[in-house]
Amino acid sequence: MTLATNPLLSGDFRIPFNRIRPEHVETGVIQALKEAQAEVDQLTAETSQPTWENTIGRLEAIGARLSEQIAPSTHLVTVSETSELRQAYNVVLPEISAFWTSLPLNASLWKRVKSYAESEQAGQLVGVEKRHLQKTLQDFIRSGADLAEDEKKELMALKIELAQLEQKFSENVLDATAEYELTVTNEARLSGVPEAMRKRAEEKAREKGIAGWLLTLDYPSVEPIIKYCDDRDLRREIHTAFVSRCRNGTFDNRPLLARILRLRDRIADLLGYKDFPDYVLEDRMAKNGENAMSFERDLVERTRPFWTRDSEELHEAATQLGIDKLSPWDSAYLAEKLRKERYNIDDEDLRPYFPLPQVLEGMFEIVRMTFGFSVVELDIKEVWHPDVKYYQILDESGEKVGAFYTDWFPRKEKRQGAWMNHFITGGPRNEGFAPHLGVICGNFTPPDGNEPALLTHREVQTIFHEFGHLLHHCTSRVEIPSRAGINVAWDWVELPSQLMENWTWEKEALHLFARHYKTGDALPDQLYERMIAARHFMGGWAQMRQLSLGTVDLELHGKLAPQLRANAAKYSEEELDLVQGDLVMEFGRESFQSFVIGPSFAELHILAVFTHLFSGGYAAAYYSYLWSEVLDADVFTRFRQEGIFNRDTGRSYVNSILSRGDSAEPGALFKEFMGRDPNPTALLDRNLGPQPA
Ligand SMILES: [Zn+2]
Repeated sequence: MTLATNPLLSGDFRIPFNRIRPEHVETGVIQALKEAQAEVDQLTAETSQPTWENTIGRLEAIGARLSEQIAPSTHLVTVSETSELRQAYNVVLPEISAFWTSLPLNASLWKRVKSYAESEQAGQLVGVEKRHLQKTLQDFIRSGADLAEDEKKELMALKIELAQLEQKFSENVLDATAEYELTVTNEARLSGVPEAMRKRAEEKAREKGIAGWLLTLDYPSVEPIIKYCDDRDLRREIHTAFVSRCRNGTFDNRPLLARILRLRDRIADLLGYKDFPDYVLEDRMAKNGENAMSFERDLVERTRPFWTRDSEELHEAATQLGIDKLSPWDSAYLAEKLRKERYNIDDEDLRPYFPLPQVLEGMFEIVRMTFGFSVVELDIKEVWHPDVKYYQILDESGEKVGAFYTDWFPRKEKRQGAWMNHFITGGPRNEGFAPHLGVICGNFTPPDGNEPALLTHREVQTIFHEFGHLLHHCTSRVEIPSRAGINVAWDWVELPSQLMENWTWEKEALHLFARHYKTGDALPDQLYERMIAARHFMGGWAQMRQLSLGTVDLELHGKLAPQLRANAAKYSEEELDLVQGDLVMEFGRESFQSFVIGPSFAELHILAVFTHLFSGGYAAAYYSYLWSEVLDADVFTRFRQEGIFNRDTGRSYVNSILSRGDSAEPGALFKEFMGRDPNPTALLDRNLGPQPA
């Protein structure tokens, strides 16, 4: 294999995924890094007067190109993580981190950037270029450009180690999930569990040559058990196994928890911040840890009466079913029972109305009518799995603004959950409009034999959500990739995604796609009314759960992490991570206490598998889910008032928010669309309904 034929470096818009093999990863990524480094060296060796083109613009282009060359490998690790691929990726990962970390620590590069910033040309910048220069300077400083040499070295080592630990954390979660199996031999134990799930479990057992029903810990298998299984012991077993992953044994994440927290705290300290939340939030809408915490506290207070009411209802339901002590493996089950009893509706009733292909078609139609973008499927061979589909997005003039892949169903070597990612960030260029390229993935209930994939309403919302992220990326009209699309503050990035979910609750929107997969009948009005009536059900319970995760996140990073670091010297190196890992788990138990109804709920917390905090971008930022919910609920009130398919409202949203990326302060973009600052009332109405009596 020569470098010229390495598919990772093909430069094709349609990435040749079908040709990428694990052996391409190491050579391809190393080559890309080398080229990028050579270009950086050329830039810093430049002796001419610094200009936008030869300094900031050029640096931006180097980064954008390298990101595009690395993205396919990073993506493949999430969707087809074989041990060969993981090994190859682990070899290049430290090199990738080292490159990005080295940029702002490169003294001659920093000197040149600063000298440009002081130039007359820089002083005359306006709009997105002005903002980009400010953000670039801030990024350099936040990454340690102004530190002393030895501090820079330490920072670099910390970041490389952190990236490896975070990767290891998520590998452990994946491995611990794949390791668990439970065979049920008596079908009576699956009483209450939906037929489709039982069939899948039976199929899984058959594939392994086992008689019976094989239960696993991927979420689509776990959810039906904890929600519907009448056998309380089985619920306990699965629930406990699910939340106890990575708490001990081969894939123990406890030692990583402590280490990750200490490293993050040291990074914040080194850069002169009070703590990690203050460091992370400086360039977010929230601005600092205290603002995020008071946002949480305010919502906790407003949510508490609803949560108390919901808890009482669960207790009553438990008593009625003869459950003496309400336990964590009962709450979802009882909530489903109550929902069924009160609204005569459960997730399974809606599935036949949500076949995946129809849902996608309806969603695309909504986007066409409201935002003016049409989506067209294209049959291509350059995919990583036969399930993968490819689509193009055209604007009203027929211009291709972007394209994307979808990958919807679980596989053993695929990460859990649903997500969107980007490969190419396009936008207006001198040569014309460069299209964007992205991907959306999920782990939805797969098709069963000849039947299409039938989704729950929650899964439908998730698809709309991820498509919202994708549109944010693919409709961007910002010239500078770093300021484009989803490259925005974390507490702003969920606005376009969560906004899309609102349409899945609107009757006119559901009429476009919610039809019975066999009969073609529209979703009956009566079922819709019940679905809406059930919407606030357990809203206080669910919102308190989100608030608990957001609060504990801020406490872990703001309160506990500095203590762990201060006390680290008390322990020998061998015992440090083990002892402190347990301290983190204990801290979790105590912190969750005020958000739950009993010690067993706090005991079974999810910290050891909480990838959002320990291997994703949500460290000190989990609050941003609800923060953006406040924003999206508020923004949707304008669609409600002016018409949910109103093309003018849609156009105004695209122009003021969706296509604008990080080209201006998020607060200013919000105000441009809404004419005022955000208000949490719409969120509270939507999630909680009227105040409990
Ligand atoms: Zn999201």
